[in-house]
Amino acid sequence: MSKRDYYEVLGVSKGASDSEIKKAYRKMAIKFHPDKNPDDAAAEAKFKEAAEAYEILSDNQKRQQYDQFGHSMGGGGFGGGGFSGGGMNMDDIFSQFGDIFGGGGFGGGGRQRRGPRRRKGSNLRVKIKLTLEDIVNGVEKKIKVNKQVAAEGVEFSSCSACGGSGQVTRVTNTILGAMQTASTCPTCQGAGQTVSKRPNGVDASGLERKEVVIPIEIPAGVEEGMQLNVQGKGNDAPGGGIPGDLIVVIEEVEHEKLRRNGNDVHYDLHLSFIDAALGKEIEVPLVEGKAKIKVNPGTQSGKILRLRGKGIPELNGYGKGDQLINIQLWTPQNLTKDEKKQLEKLRENENFQPNLNKAKSFFDRVKEHFT
Ligand SMILES: [Zn+2]
Repeated sequence: MSKRDYYEVLGVSKGASDSEIKKAYRKMAIKFHPDKNPDDAAAEAKFKEAAEAYEILSDNQKRQQYDQFGHSMGGGGFGGGGFSGGGMNMDDIFSQFGDIFGGGGFGGGGRQRRGPRRRKGSNLRVKIKLTLEDIVNGVEKKIKVNKQVAAEGVEFSSCSACGGSGQVTRVTNTILGAMQTASTCPTCQGAGQTVSKRPNGVDASGLERKEVVIPIEIPAGVEEGMQLNVQGKGNDAPGGGIPGDLIVVIEEVEHEKLRRNGNDVHYDLHLSFIDAALGKEIEVPLVEGKAKIKVNPGTQSGKILRLRGKGIPELNGYGKGDQLINIQLWTPQNLTKDEKKQLEKLRENENFQPNLNKAKSFFDRVKEHFT
């Protein structure tokens, strides 16, 4: 699409001053304003074209770049805006007017809307507590929320203030002459209808508070602080508009025995030094059920055993974390005289002395487990 030169669009020379550009744009905006040219697509195109030209030429930096590169400058220098063509929407254009018309004739409300506006209900936020089991498997929770719902027995009628259009128009005298402006109807907030009959307990917009149970599918792998957005399950909008969203904030309930670390699950296994020395088969808790593991004779404190795939699934469904078992040796306390005596006999035994040549260092073991 070939684009007209911005200076040509506004009918000014390349060397035009800021005030000349402003004046030229003002003239164009009035001539092609949609309020003056209802349902005239050509006028609307001209209106947009002028707004776009003004947006660039009224900004020193953008104007400079335009002078240098012309329309060929794509998204680069202009953040994907003005130059890519037809980038401005009517809201942008009307918000420019405060500057041009000094808040007079066209205010922020001077926009033309077609028909009443659909209103949106507000969002609701709830916290939900999940156990590690819930997180591993995913879960359907039924959440009780107190929300605004469209009440039964409400009757609506067309808004008398705006005749159902959702807008009120008024004629303002400005320095540029009489100007017709449209703004959102203050009586119906743009909905075009008002509540004409409502049962007790229903507010003026036809909504009432109700406790509602909403079933929510929570996928496996979520974590503390995550927010799930359930579209359309928030508060209803007045007059059949679009309901808001329900935002579910995840909270993790601490597990009695297991700790989560990312998608891995950690378990501290406390062993007597006798079990560690002689070896033993031991049952450890998993998120679901239990597993029997074998502790080899001569296992050192701090050893980490890994149960692959017994952790938490990735949220995207690919892969699973592991369960890590951290072995901690339990040193006996409060020994009886007799027990002390038996241990005394072993104290000087060479086999009971730490032998670092035999035992791998802590760092070697860490390397072994994480490579
Ligand atoms: Zn109204």
